[in-house]
Amino acid sequence: KSQISIRALSIKPSLTLEISAKAKALKAEGKNICSLSAGEPDFDTPEFIVDATLKALKDGKTRYGPAAGDPELREAIAQKQSDINKVPTKTDNVLVTNGGKQAIYNLFQVVLNPGDEVLIPTPYWLSYPEITLLAGAKPIKIKSSTKDKFKIDINSLEEHVTEKTRLLIINSPSNPTGCVLTEQEMKTISDFLRRHPRILLMSDEIYEFLISPNQVHHSFAKIAPDLKNRIFTVNGFAKAWAMTGWRIGYLTGNAEVIKKAIALQSQSTSNVCSFAQKGAIAALQGSKDCVHEMANIYNKRRLLITERLKKIKHISFVPPNGAFYVFPEINLEEIDSISFCKLALEKVGLAIVPGIAFGDDKCIRISYAASNKMIEDGVNRLERLLNDF
Ligand code: PLP
Repeated sequence: KSQISIRALSIKPSLTLEISAKAKALKAEGKNICSLSAGEPDFDTPEFIVDATLKALKDGKTRYGPAAGDPELREAIAQKQSDINKVPTKTDNVLVTNGGKQAIYNLFQVVLNPGDEVLIPTPYWLSYPEITLLAGAKPIKIKSSTKDKFKIDINSLEEHVTEKTRLLIINSPSNPTGCVLTEQEMKTISDFLRRHPRILLMSDEIYEFLISPNQVHHSFAKIAPDLKNRIFTVNGFAKAWAMTGWRIGYLTGNAEVIKKAIALQSQSTSNVCSFAQKGAIAALQGSKDCVHEMANIYNKRRLLITERLKKIKHISFVPPNGAFYVFPEINLEEIDSISFCKLALEKVGLAIVPGIAFGDDKCIRISYAASNKMIEDGVNRLERLLNDF
């Protein structure tokens, strides 16, 4: 008889982490593999952040801290949200978490009841449905495709609302599509929320700084200040400051929910690593030049990959405006995304992620958080593979 709980039985391991691991294993065997599968910056964490952390370690910042987060970091986050995002935020609206992922986990655990429904615009970041299920709630996928430029269809949102609908997820810039919501689109979604007072919104803004120069990132809570009690923002240091392994993110929102999320965290993971938080403080207080430099490099890579992909047959895609992914559709009959990605790995040694992981079995996710040389190499391999069809 299985020892696994009913709750755990439904959990799927993260397919992106799995593909990256498989590509690494093949490389270790000596195979010539090009991986455009990772969901993380290929840069090192900026040195001043590392230095501040080393100093904190030397200064003995090695003990337990408050579950809510280092007070100085909570303050710095509140200030960043207020100054940069134009969302007035106080310290008690902030919870420091072990990555943006735990911010989402904690939020869902404290606002969702069993049977509640969560509206998830599709394609989605792959952890949303899993974290929803872990809270006993039901993911309701709202489809969109390359044909409609991955726009969120408000009519479709309306059609899927029931008395159990509790939460809507927004992720702009998006993983996996790279799409960025316009101010007008956010206003339309705000009106939707005004029509449905029971529905809360989670705005995942972890890619806010990684955006094309011709785009503007708007914090959802800024667009609809009258809804501030119902809007929860997820963010973190992983993508903008190349700090994936540090595991620092944050949740902001109304103080009542944040307080409960702090209580949950105090009974699960306690505080985020004390000295790592000192590094995050340095990141927020320091110059943003490093972030802009990395964002500029992603912008150049984005142009490179979109220009190259345009010339490849059997694919169509929406040019991304943010994050570091492209999500092309494979225009071939009778091949699902897992088979295609397996073929890519076996035939041309290219590691990419099947779209099914993000709710779209026609697509593949290509990450351009890689050097120009690797992007060129990867696209050449994809081209070779598709030329054979
Ligand atoms: N949200 C999105 C859309 C992501 O792509 C990721 C990471 O891939 C996260 C949240 C979580 O980031 P982390 O937990 O590393 O801060």
